[in-house]
Amino acid sequence: METADGWLLRMRLPGGTIAPDQFDAVADTSERWGRGIVEITARGNLQLRGVAAEAVALAADALVHAGLADPEPVLDARRAVVAPPLTGHDPAEARSVAGLTEVLVDALVAAALPGPLAPKFGVVLDTTGSIRVGAVPGDLLLVARPAAGATEWWAAIGHGGQPGWSGVLGPCTDAELVRLTVDLAARCAAHGCRAADLPPATVAAVSGHRPYAPVGRATSPAAASVGPWDHVAPDRVSVVGAPPLGRLGPDGLRRLAGAGRRGLGLRVTPTGCVAVLGVRRHDLDLVTAELHGAGCSTDPLDGWHAVSACAGADGCASGRADTLAAATLVARCSAPDGRRPRVHLSGCEKRCGAPGDARILVADEAGRFVGDEEAP
Ligand code: SF4
Repeated sequence: METADGWLLRMRLPGGTIAPDQFDAVADTSERWGRGIVEITARGNLQLRGVAAEAVALAADALVHAGLADPEPVLDARRAVVAPPLTGHDPAEARSVAGLTEVLVDALVAAALPGPLAPKFGVVLDTTGSIRVGAVPGDLLLVARPAAGATEWWAAIGHGGQPGWSGVLGPCTDAELVRLTVDLAARCAAHGCRAADLPPATVAAVSGHRPYAPVGRATSPAAASVGPWDHVAPDRVSVVGAPPLGRLGPDGLRRLAGAGRRGLGLRVTPTGCVAVLGVRRHDLDLVTAELHGAGCSTDPLDGWHAVSACAGADGCASGRADTLAAATLVARCSAPDGRRPRVHLSGCEKRCGAPGDARILVADEAGRFVGDEEAP
């Protein structure tokens, strides 16, 4: 995608999972061919900014070579599966969906779909655990929750806006969830639309003709999800850190890669954070210091956690104001009481990447930020 500061290359990370070596590869690619700025997106992906037109193919090849993208864009678009950042390591979740995430991606990539999926088609898995992701927009939300010693699933189809269907599926095998997901993807591809725009009869067919039954929406992950989290292994802990505005430079990426090598893995979160999974408790201080060295905050009361912004005038031709400078000001002025409402600064009315639970301030024609209710 071409933007005001050059080409932007997006890497879809199923479940936010990324290996330390891949973080190093992103750092090298952004340093060599980009502006040295990598952003965490609202779907827990990464995007590399400011690549010159003549270097796009080289940078894209480097990312494909590192296993961060499918060389075929139509297939790469099918890899959009969001999962909780701690899944598989979280003692509070109903079940792990780490394996299911991989199986879903493989099935979507292998499926014989009747056409391309919409660029923002996505599946969201939530496990009612410590850090929830159910508020991330998508075409299908599948939520695992504990029920009488088993795991029960509920689903919402087209949950980016008003869901077309939302109800209890009951206990399901992974194969059944994969069938439902691929069926929905095939119908979206056939109609050339997102799930929210499918005809009601099609949605009814996907949901097994169960009547529309609203169930409680999962809430967004807490803005202050940073810091240490219990691990399924008592001698380990996971640590989440947040870089300011979800932006990282090459040095920060490399330090995070080093931190990841001290644990059992790394995940990027839809709230602009990075989780280091399964660190031995005696390495916690060391890993926390690495996160701080990478520019990440692990303090839940830090004002940065309640503020987000789109690229604004710094990186987007539509930006009417310097959203990044304004967000810095908001973060520095936040009262340190841990109860601040989340604020998102948007450079125009498109509101790219705005979290669902944030108060959105939109730059008007004069570059002043106005509340969402007054914005166009
Ligand atoms: S919200 Fe507007 S200014 Fe911000 S990134 Fe999107 S198009 Fe650009």
